[in-house]
Amino acid sequence: MSQRNTTLANGEIIDAISRFLESPPEGTPDEIIEAFDLAGTREFLPPKLFLETVEQAPVAISITDSTARILYVNSAFERLSGYLRDEVIGQNESVLSSKSTPISVYQDLWETIKDKRVWHGTLVNHRKSREEYLAELIISPVFSANGQIAYYLGMHRDITEMHQLEQRLKFQKELTEAALDAVPMVVAMVDAERKVLMDNHAYKALLGDFRGVEPATLFLDALEQQLGFDLSNVCQVGKGFGNIDVRLDPPGGASPRWFACSGVRVAELDEAANNYFKQTGASRCCLLLIANEVTSSRRRINEARLNMIRANMAEQQMVQTMREAISGAIFKLQVPLNVIKAAISMPDGGSAKSSLREVLQQALESGNEAMDSLHGSLPSPTLEQTSTVNINEIVHEVIKLSTDRLLATGVVVDWRPTAVLPSLSGRANSLRGLFKYLIDNAIEAVNEAGRPYREVRLETREENHELVVEVMDNGSGIQQSQRIKAFEPFFCGWTHAGEHAGMGLTMAQEVAIGHGGSVEIDADFLGGCRVTVRLPVNGTEGG
Ligand code: FAD
Repeated sequence: MSQRNTTLANGEIIDAISRFLESPPEGTPDEIIEAFDLAGTREFLPPKLFLETVEQAPVAISITDSTARILYVNSAFERLSGYLRDEVIGQNESVLSSKSTPISVYQDLWETIKDKRVWHGTLVNHRKSREEYLAELIISPVFSANGQIAYYLGMHRDITEMHQLEQRLKFQKELTEAALDAVPMVVAMVDAERKVLMDNHAYKALLGDFRGVEPATLFLDALEQQLGFDLSNVCQVGKGFGNIDVRLDPPGGASPRWFACSGVRVAELDEAANNYFKQTGASRCCLLLIANEVTSSRRRINEARLNMIRANMAEQQMVQTMREAISGAIFKLQVPLNVIKAAISMPDGGSAKSSLREVLQQALESGNEAMDSLHGSLPSPTLEQTSTVNINEIVHEVIKLSTDRLLATGVVVDWRPTAVLPSLSGRANSLRGLFKYLIDNAIEAVNEAGRPYREVRLETREENHELVVEVMDNGSGIQQSQRIKAFEPFFCGWTHAGEHAGMGLTMAQEVAIGHGGSVEIDADFLGGCRVTVRLPVNGTEGG
């Protein structure tokens, strides 16, 4: 039977039902009239319209009995399966099975529908031509008046193409991920809320190195501090950035790591249904962050730089030592001169006293001359330009410069920098000098204490717009009575004063004050000493 004929036959059935309902034959049971009537004219649309709707529906529809024997199929079913309805009516739906669907799927299907529930799933079907296709199928039980399953309604569509597209998409995704994982650079896609949407192996490795702290956050913090880079602004302005060097300080005292960072703006796909027809211009965006590790080349450059700094600091140290020695001499000479001055100003008691006064006067004059020449020979402090400095970098350089001394004295350094610190406008050499004094003092203190385990711990952090550096040691500590005195010039509290001039903390404090900051000795620290340096982020240059 042709498709057209079948449609006519169905139409004839509907027409017959309509005619029957117009004048039901004498003696027709009321239930039958009621059943046709309810399904038709009164509460629902006419049966003819129902059938035509099902017949012309664009999805393949079949109605079976409770054993899946086909009773009805629509035109879309014929088109999709390639079978004419006469060829399948009376057959089991299994006529469509290509035998590639696992039996467990059918078991689940039957368990579900026999339990009077709707089954939704995918089967591998074949057409009459044996060509296979993927069928997305919904089977719904149709109940009789007594609640038993009378029929099953099956609706299916061909999703082969969609599946192919999905597979291609999956393949593309796997390919992209494999390529991303293979590259040595750190790659991450970050949304406007800094959430990492996608990353690669190198990123995950970095995440481990930073003990679970998202590297994307560290990079963005560093870029914000270095460039004033604002992630939300990138979405509006649409500009990325390229090859910006970022320094990250890993936890646990590991050496700093350097990355050349680039960022590319990528428009975020809007999944919201209500934005389906809207313009995507003002939509949100993500940032593709690419960070290429350049630590080894940076380390080589830093090594050369460190040598320069070492030479520079040695010179600075020499000048400083001379200044300290001469200042010490001035300080010491001032005492007898003051005594002489006081003696001269005492009332005159006779000629003998007068000649003594003369001698004293001469001694005072030659003393003053000596003082003038000492003042004249005092080397002037080196003037230094301010520049943008990274305190983590400065402290780390000083630790490296102190390596020989630390090794010789068996002191373990526990370096705990905050991964990203804002930079500061300051005098790098003076600041190096500041931390050198504090580290040297810490080494001296643990030496004097003579403990078997000698540790110096250095921590950096940002607190209330200040950069805080703490230098802690498990050495002899500073007595409460000496905490203020220790900052006085020429005060020396070491047991073995040796060549110490007692100017270290004075100079350290001078540098900190010159940067608008301070140096304090913690009164509550037990088991050693903790010196805290505070430097304002927007430091005022005091000279
Ligand atoms: P079988 O050996 O007949 O069945 C496989 C397993 O399915 C059995 O081991 C058993 O666990 C379960 N099973 C089969 N028949 C029954 C039953 N009557 N009662 C309880 N469990 C049973 N199949 C397709 O492959 N493609 C279709 O498009 C499709 N459409 C369907 C539409 C409707 C409305 C219904 C009710 C079923 C449909 N089926 C379809 C399922 C089909 O009837 C067969 O169960 C299936 O094709 C497996 O048949 P088989 O001969 O390969 O294996």
